[in-house]
Amino acid sequence: MKIAVLPGDGIGPEIVAEAVKVLQALELPLELEWADVGGTAYETSGHPLPEGTLNLAKAADAILFGAVGDWKYDKLDRPLRPEQAILGLRKHLGLFANFRPAVCYEQLTHASSLKPELVAGLDILIIRELTGDIYFGQPRGRRTATDGHFPGSEEAFDTMRYSRPEVERIAHVAFQAARKRGGKLTSVDKANVLETFQFWKDIVTDVHQHYPDVKLDHMYVDNAAMQLVKTPKSFDVIVTGNMFGDILSDEASMLTGSIGMLPSASLDKQNKGLYEPSHGSAPDIAGKGVANPLATILSAAMMLRFTLNQEAAAQRIEAAVQKVLWQGLRTADIYSEGTARVGTAQMGDAVLAALRA
Ligand code: NAD
Repeated sequence: MKIAVLPGDGIGPEIVAEAVKVLQALELPLELEWADVGGTAYETSGHPLPEGTLNLAKAADAILFGAVGDWKYDKLDRPLRPEQAILGLRKHLGLFANFRPAVCYEQLTHASSLKPELVAGLDILIIRELTGDIYFGQPRGRRTATDGHFPGSEEAFDTMRYSRPEVERIAHVAFQAARKRGGKLTSVDKANVLETFQFWKDIVTDVHQHYPDVKLDHMYVDNAAMQLVKTPKSFDVIVTGNMFGDILSDEASMLTGSIGMLPSASLDKQNKGLYEPSHGSAPDIAGKGVANPLATILSAAMMLRFTLNQEAAAQRIEAAVQKVLWQGLRTADIYSEGTARVGTAQMGDAVLAALRA
């Protein structure tokens, strides 16, 4: 089982190191190979997704990804910016289905910004389409490296687009996921004002015919954003486009206590996947040893479950994470009075110890 390890920028290397420790403790035949990506790769090779990194990712069974990005690259031409690496990997590897479970652990109900009774027992799954939408449509207007603004432009635009096959395949994935869980799917759109999302809604409604056992409802994205903080437990599985999914899943992360708790899987048609925490490279805390590595460790568990078919190992990791939370260990982002504040490496070591116990 070959795993490409791409730590990236900011806190990426710190949190990935902890997930690697945990993977290596499992005594599974895992072959890990590292490569640069994002700003780190730009520094060494002049491109955020060098060919060698892309080839390694293509050849691997699964990819463990940290995060990319730093404010210092904000003035680069867009194709050279670190974030293009993750967009490129998704596009080149056909990773179209992004699974972002938002689970509120009982131990962390008080770390959520919502009242404990609203989030206790929360277990929802956001499925975000990853390869279409406004992120991949035709842009107009380019900021240049030299002067950092749009010379000669009086406007800028990006184009929102989805093709029928793209919507159909994510709808099938979402219905199948809902069938394995609570049997309820909410498709989030903006069909009241956007043609792209009327198209989306019509196709999801058609695909529903294949899954009569799943209850489908449609919700506008502004309402969904509100319902997520009003009655989050009313959702089971949410399916939505690339941009709405990006925003709603960050919102959902706060229900769980911290974005540092939210893992994610991005899968292709064969369930080959890229696994990464839902958060970014957090330049504000990079190098300080305080980042929460649990989202990355839980992403490694998702990798074992979805791509490597190692359900027992995935459950061992999840149980170890639960155990350290019961022990009261907390990184700064989930710290509350009466718990013990630990750093990134201490949290990783504690998960390792719980795994071995
Ligand atoms: P971010 O997710 O990096 O950080 C938002 C806030 O959450 C910050 O205050 C940060 O300190 C905190 N945070 C994030 N992860 C944490 C963790 N594990 N433990 C504790 N606190 C954590 O989002 P941002 O600040 O908007 O973006 C920073 C950079 O990351 C940008 O360059 C952005 O483009 C990039 N980014 C990359 C990805 C990716 O690699 N997939 C995703 C999102 C953003």
